[in-house]
Amino acid sequence: MRQMIIAGNWKMHKTVSEAVSFVQELKQQVANTRVEVVVCPPFTALAPVAEALKGSSIALAAQNMHWENQGAFTGEISPLMLKEIGCKYVVLGHSERRQYFGETDETVNKKVKAALEHGLVPIVCVGETLAQREANATEQVVATQTRGALADLSPEQVAGLVIAYEPVWAIGTGKTASDQDAQQVNRYIRQVIAQEFGQSAAEAVRIQYGGSVKPGNARGLMSQPDIDGALVGGASLKVEDFKGIIENS
Ligand code: PEP
Repeated sequence: MRQMIIAGNWKMHKTVSEAVSFVQELKQQVANTRVEVVVCPPFTALAPVAEALKGSSIALAAQNMHWENQGAFTGEISPLMLKEIGCKYVVLGHSERRQYFGETDETVNKKVKAALEHGLVPIVCVGETLAQREANATEQVVATQTRGALADLSPEQVAGLVIAYEPVWAIGTGKTASDQDAQQVNRYIRQVIAQEFGQSAAEAVRIQYGGSVKPGNARGLMSQPDIDGALVGGASLKVEDFKGIIENS
């Protein structure tokens, strides 16, 4: 049985004080949920949010990291640094990182391996653009991204990670994949995992949907058999909206 995982990707939003007051309220509001709740603040707020979350079951994630432990990589953050401050998860290969910062399947794969070496759980993002969907290339794109990101991993490693299917055309646009379309792609990703890593890894791996998830559409999406949670952007920035999604999952 896969536990639902709802993660809020704040992107480049919230100062330290805004982040801390947000989680102080959130932890009261979702104290009794059976869903795994994760927040992904910007780097500057990770340590103060970790402190504010002590004693709560809400988990902490970073939005990106470098694959090296240390070195001359100005502006980068390493897995060691994230682990020390209490991150459990790290989002890797988000479409905004691929689109604006040159991330490739190869760099995502290096980051996934580095995260696992340090006991961080990757949330690996895959998804097609509108042009790719219109060209009927969705399956080919998500299969290539999934195989690329997970290259050389063991079935046990794959079983423990999280994949987020995020159609690029649905991110921040207000357009959501239909429940059936999202389910179909999530099931397809699970089939790819089964081919590459075996049935038990495919049954264990959690596959989220992301792309304009809101309290109003969460229930339909989250009740699909191959959707194990959501990666939420815009609607994770207000406690009321994020709580609404958690409650409807
Ligand atoms: C995201 O940032 O991963 C995302 C899905 O954003 P939004 O929910 O705003 O579409």
